[in-house]
Amino acid sequence: MAPSPFIIVAIDGGAASGKSSSSRTLSERFHLLHVDTGSYYRAITAELLRLGLRADDRPAVQAALAGLQLGTRLNGRSAELTIGGRVAGDEIRSREVNDQVSHFAALPELRAALLAYQRGLPAVGRQHQFRGVVMEGRDIGSVIFPDADCRFFLHADPVERERRRAGQGLQDQIRERDRIDSSRQASPLTCPAGATSIDTTLATREEVVAQMAAAIAARLPPA
Ligand code: C5P
Repeated sequence: MAPSPFIIVAIDGGAASGKSSSSRTLSERFHLLHVDTGSYYRAITAELLRLGLRADDRPAVQAALAGLQLGTRLNGRSAELTIGGRVAGDEIRSREVNDQVSHFAALPELRAALLAYQRGLPAVGRQHQFRGVVMEGRDIGSVIFPDADCRFFLHADPVERERRRAGQGLQDQIRERDRIDSSRQASPLTCPAGATSIDTTLATREEVVAQMAAAIAARLPPA
């Protein structure tokens, strides 16, 4: 296949499957704009909770979403979501957001609010002279960019993933979030057809990145 002048890399997988560390490393290695879409779902969840909303009050959520002003701020190589001009802080990793995010993320109206926004980010990458975008999430290779140049699906044994979270000092309902994310109607977490599936349970970070980097390098023109 001919090299792409601007590459789109989609990385999907459940919590603690290795998406974040590998996408950050690949962003640095290939000068790609890094997009952590999980942080976007978390930031919107935090904002809706701040407004006192619950995921089962769909009309109120829909009305609130219509009023949110979404924008982008570059922080190094990362594209951060701004809501009303502000980037959310540590509250997006709070216990409450962690417990609620999958319920809000299952709402089609919330996913629709982020769809066009996410598809607009390659233009931001081009504008800032990145060589491409590496976007991590749950539905990037299946829904947001099904034609991405490279699509990866990372997975690992749940016991190993819980061990990784504990090692980060975080309490996370990994299995419960995966269950909700995989069983929802709208854009469920799944290995996209044709994506490269990588089991990270026993692999080192370097091994995982090396496999992805080889595929990306083959699609990029020489620097
Ligand atoms: O990646 P992270 O674990 O921070 O994502 C938090 C939650 O956001 C996921 O459990 C999922 O419910 C939601 N999410 C999603 N689609 C994405 C990224 C995240 O539904 N593309």
